[in-house]
Amino acid sequence: MEISGRKALVLGAGKSGVESARFLANRGAIVALHDKREVETWSDAARGLKESHGVGLISGQIPSWLLDQIDLVVISPGVPTNTIPARYVDRKDGEVIGEVELAFRFMKGRIVGITGSNGKTTTTTLIGELLKNSGIKTQVGGNIGTPLLSLAESSTDETWTVAELSSFQLETIKDFRADIALCLNVTPNHLDRYESFLDYAAAKHRIFMNQTAENVAILNADNEVTATWADGLKANVVFFSVERELDEGLFLRGRELVCRANGKEKVLTTRDEIYLRGLHNVENVLASLAAGLAAGASPESMRETIAEFKGVEHRIEFVAELDGVSFYNDSKATSVDATMKALEALSEIDGNTVLILGGRGKNAPYAPLIPLIEASVRALVLIGEDADNIESQLKGHAEIIRAGSLRDAVEKGFAAAESGDAVLLAPACASFDMFGSFEERGREFKAHVGNLEAKAASV
Ligand code: ADP
Repeated sequence: MEISGRKALVLGAGKSGVESARFLANRGAIVALHDKREVETWSDAARGLKESHGVGLISGQIPSWLLDQIDLVVISPGVPTNTIPARYVDRKDGEVIGEVELAFRFMKGRIVGITGSNGKTTTTTLIGELLKNSGIKTQVGGNIGTPLLSLAESSTDETWTVAELSSFQLETIKDFRADIALCLNVTPNHLDRYESFLDYAAAKHRIFMNQTAENVAILNADNEVTATWADGLKANVVFFSVERELDEGLFLRGRELVCRANGKEKVLTTRDEIYLRGLHNVENVLASLAAGLAAGASPESMRETIAEFKGVEHRIEFVAELDGVSFYNDSKATSVDATMKALEALSEIDGNTVLILGGRGKNAPYAPLIPLIEASVRALVLIGEDADNIESQLKGHAEIIRAGSLRDAVEKGFAAAESGDAVLLAPACASFDMFGSFEERGREFKAHVGNLEAKAASV
């Protein structure tokens, strides 16, 4: 792709937009960076591009004269694809792409792409570890953090790049092709941005769009959307399932994770060796093993890595044990569905769960939690804006305790727990009523647990 001399408009001054603007300017393009927010509120990295790279900074409305000047638009994942500059440039045969597509055009080596509604970050991180520990030169990025474009710059012919890809990022690819592409599941999500479920599922399906017969497509046989996708694909399809034995593919049989190919079977690991809790994580492990095998990682090394893999921060993360009570941080559980997964995962422990719930509600009913609450929850500790609403929907199904802050919730939760129990932060709500992000909420939770430990140690 020729960049020198092109006139590019980058839409969105977040991490991926900044990386794109810098990359294009370094290669001789004339670049403008746009965001609807006032320039004063942009990050230092974004504002600094004017001085360091001669990038024009535009906020608010894009001036109409500019549209005629540009022949390349790079769209950030947060920006809708049908904005006026995108439509305009498309019409005059300019190019409209996302940062992932731009990265692909400069990427050396091979790519594992991971998408899905849930489990992307966990699976991406695990696949990265599986490959790296097998001695493969590996780098990890995309939606998970490091923009793919900066990984393109560090890639060599030997590199495997493991990329987490959101549906927003997949909307703006054109030639992007993953040697190994994986879709974990497609469930209703982000329907605020998509017109329909079909639209959302189709965006995820694009991860397989340019694959050839040399490539591998990994699909969840238990998900009703991805289970139907094999027929239309050119790549070699590998299915995985936790619900049934497959004639070919990877599946859970009893406690064993089995790979069956060409009539031969191999037990790759067992549930007892997996540190991560919950059946959803067995799905993530099966999918990761499928990707690892396809990339040539050694089964023995993968078995060890899986046993040691502690998961990603804020996802049913074990924090500490105090007087026989275990504390788990699942601050990433911002939906009722994710809270259900966490309760299911902790139903494996001997004791009961004290569940900290609440925050900024998402207008989804809490009632689906009731069977799990009745099965394993000792008490609910409610915090945040939606506490009254949660109480009205769940009262009568477990003891309800109200807390004025997260610190109060940790202390009251600990007091309500008995030895063998777990205190679980899986709030089923967004964090923005009390915190800047789910990460901040999770870190605070861990700090309060740390304070309890310190207090206990000083007595
Ligand atoms: P993502 O990056 O897709 O948001 P994460 O790995 O960060 O996924 O996990 C987010 C939450 O989704 C976890 O806390 C867990 O509750 C749930 N989850 C993880 N893996 C799966 C899965 N395979 N199926 C369903 N839910 C999952």
